This record gives sequence, structure tokens and C-alpha cells, in this order.
Amino acid sequence: MTALTAALTQNRVHHAFLFAGTRGVGKTTLARLLAKALNCDRGVSAEPCSKCDACIAVDEGRYIDLIEVDAASRTRVDDTRELLDNVQYAPTMGRFKVYLIDEVHMLSGHSFNALLKTLEEPPAHVKFLLATTDPQKLPPTILSRCLQFNLRALQVIEIVSQMEKILKSEAVEFDLDALNTLARAAAGSMRDGLSLLDQAIAFGSGTVAGGAIRDMLGMIETRQVEQLIRALAEADVAALLDVVEALRERALDYRLVLDDLLVSLHDICLYQIAPNAVDAKALDAGFIAELSELMTPEDVQLFYQIGLLGKADLPLAPDPATGFEMALLRMLLFRPDASNGEEDTSEESETLPVKRSPVRVAPDKKRSQSDSVPKSLNPAEPSVWARLVGDAALEGVSRELAMNLSPQTYESGTLTVGLSSALQHLDKSTRRQEVEKKIGVLLGEEAFALQVVKASHTSDAATPVVVQAKRTEEAKQQAYNKLMQDPVVQDIIDRFDATVVPDSVQTGQKGG
Ligand SMILES: [Zn+2]
Repeated sequence: MTALTAALTQNRVHHAFLFAGTRGVGKTTLARLLAKALNCDRGVSAEPCSKCDACIAVDEGRYIDLIEVDAASRTRVDDTRELLDNVQYAPTMGRFKVYLIDEVHMLSGHSFNALLKTLEEPPAHVKFLLATTDPQKLPPTILSRCLQFNLRALQVIEIVSQMEKILKSEAVEFDLDALNTLARAAAGSMRDGLSLLDQAIAFGSGTVAGGAIRDMLGMIETRQVEQLIRALAEADVAALLDVVEALRERALDYRLVLDDLLVSLHDICLYQIAPNAVDAKALDAGFIAELSELMTPEDVQLFYQIGLLGKADLPLAPDPATGFEMALLRMLLFRPDASNGEEDTSEESETLPVKRSPVRVAPDKKRSQSDSVPKSLNPAEPSVWARLVGDAALEGVSRELAMNLSPQTYESGTLTVGLSSALQHLDKSTRRQEVEKKIGVLLGEEAFALQVVKASHTSDAATPVVVQAKRTEEAKQQAYNKLMQDPVVQDIIDRFDATVVPDSVQTGQKGG
């Protein structure tokens, strides 16, 4: 804008300006200010007086030499021609005739041609002020003849400070949380922000407070945003569904709820990368710090992405509440393993496969290790031997030895086992004794002994290593099949064109 100020001060003002920017950022306000600057009774200046007849008339929208046209409602070529026919006549009162054409990109092709002719040979007493939200749609011939100013969308803090100024001057009580909420809802438009502020003052009967504003906008309470994020971070389905249920009872705009969630995730992400840069407005700073520990940066990114997609999907969902709930469930389902090792073997995990992510399907409990081995068992069935080895509290190389023995025959307390010639180094008498002792305890056979013979091919030997690998593979396949039958998972696969990563399916059994 310094270029414009200098031009005005030197009275060398370009004949055509283009103000580009999103709605409500002050394009027409600026154009009117320029009209005043050009026609102020006190002379062309960057600071019109706002007190003379010309300035007041412009402010009140009745200045005869300021011709405002809304191209969005006036696109016919005749209209533009009629308008431009009058360009040649001198201004009635002021120094310049100022044409303000709003949403100029809406003019038809013919109208553009008429405008272009005038711009090519403009009379000295005419200035054109063009405004548009979409400069891309203007023909280059027009663009090249205009001095272009791009007005950026306003930041939340700029809208907030303007609101603060107004409320203080009008002695209206307010809290900053409320102003931040309003400014965010204004999406970069000062005009929208101020109109929301008007509504807020009326809604709060004279005060502007956070809770009331959230109600007015159909927004979720800050406390509930925190509950949602915590439930997601802790993969706590029950808590998540509680919040969803509470939200259902209020007539909320779920787009705004998702927006709130996204803003908070953004704060958490920012905190993870640059803690000092967070100017946490919506949420408590302590909460942000705590949650940024509970979630990995990848989790935050994933939740954010799914939230965005969920917003886009809302109009397609059977109803907004369902669409919202589904977005949250996706966040849980697609979250990478949180690597907090505890396994959930409680009963609920069977009916609620979304308990933790990646989806864990409870193991077949009858087969889990806690069952004791019946005494009559014959350790020369390979699966019995594998289970005995799994249950014996063997460690280190003794365990490795036992894991690689393939049972052959069992007679009067002596189990003949094969050991691959490549693994003979594992067979040391102390280790063998440890295996004999611990397996003997499980079998209730004090004199249990091993007779180790050479096995030529490890590949077909039924060692516990082989048996367990096979069993794990089967369990995984079973869990995968079960998972693929789940309607929620099917829906996600359909919607996202997703695939379930087979190795992300865990059976809940501790490996090895
Ligand atoms: Zn003036």
C-alpha cells in the first residue's frame, strides 16, 4: 500500500486498480477510501479528511461521481455499454469520476471488451477500481492494464483485535475465548466477523462469553473437545462413544465439531514440533502438553487427515451424527500400533474388536498358555512337546535348544529327540539337564530324560519352532478372516479403497 500512498501524495494516480482477495477482507472499503482520497475537498491525499461534503457523501453512499456496479448482478453487455458511454462526461462535483466495479470477473466476454476499450484510452478524469474474489478469471488484457493489489485473508488475531477495540469502545463485557471462537468462524473475513459479533452481543444480551458463543454457533463445548481427543489418544472406545452420545442430545453442527477437533489437533501437532510456538487458545495449554505425549506425531497427522475427509463425507452420510461417529471410529481403527505393550485379554475385546488399534482379535482362550498340561500327555506328539516347551520357564540358549528339538519316541520317561546337525553346538549337558528338569516338572515325571539324536533335515522336523510358526500363521489367518467379516472394517475398505495390512492383525498371543 505504500506505493498507493506515494502515488496519492504526488497526485500521480494510476487510472485503473484491481483489488483481489477473498470476501470480506475490505476490497470495497479500500476502493471507497480511494474515492475519498481522490475527491476530498482538501485535495488529493493519502489521508482524506472524512469531514468535507465529498468525504461524507462517499461514506453515506450518495456521492454522485462514485459509480458503484456489482458485476455479479449486472453482466449483460448492454448494461456495461450504457455505463461506459457516460465515461466521457466530466465529473459532476469532484475531480474524478470513480467507477467501482465489484466482482468484476463476473462480466461477460462482451462486457470485458467494452471495458477494455475504455481502459485502453481512459479520459483523464476517470479512475477505475475493480474488485474481485477470483482474479484468475480475468482476461490478461484487463489484468495488464490494472495496478493489482492482493489483499490477503485476515488472520484470527487481526479479527480478534478489531473486535476487542470495538467492544472496549462500546463498554461491552467479553472474554477472549469468545472472540477467538467468533474470529475462527469468520474464516478470514472481517465483515463476517463483525456481523457475527453483532449477533453475539444480541444473543448474550449485552455480553460476549465463550460458552454462549459456542451455543450460538452450534459448537461443542471445550471440555467435550478435550474428552474426545483424550478418548482417541487412549483408544478408549467406551469413553469416545459416551461423548458422541452426549453430543447427539444437542443439535450440533458436526462440521464445526470436526473443525474444533482439527484446530486442537493442529495445536497438539505444533506443540510436538515447536512447543513455544503454540498459542493455545481453544484448549488448555496443560492439556495440549499432556496429549502431545500420549500421541505420536503420526497419530496426530492421521487423525487430522481422517477428520478432514470426514468433513467432506458428512453431506453423504445417512445423517450427520453417523458420519461424525464413523470418522472417529476410523481414527481408532487406522491408528498405527501405539506400542504400549499391554495386551487386552478382557471379555469385552471379543465383542468390541475396535478396542485398540491395530484391531486386535482376542485369542481362542481355550488354547492359551495358562492351561496346565495333563499328566497323561505323551510328549512325542509334536504339538504337545511344543506346548510343554512353551510353558516351561526356559531361558536363553536352553530355551533355544528345546525349541529346536523334534520329538520322536517316548518310552519309560525318556524322550528321543532329533537335533539338526547344524545345531549340535546347542547341545551342552548343563542345558540339556535344565530342559529335562523343567519339562519333567510339567509332566510330573521326575526321571524325565532326553536322548538327543542327529536329525538330518530341519525343514520337516516338527520342532516347537516349526509348530509355533505354523500355529501363529493359522491364528493370524483366522483373525484376519474374522476382521474382514466385520461390517465396520468392510465399510472403511470400501470408502477409502483401503486394504488391511495382514501383519497388522495381531492375535493377542505373545509370540515365541
Ligand atoms: Zn474530505
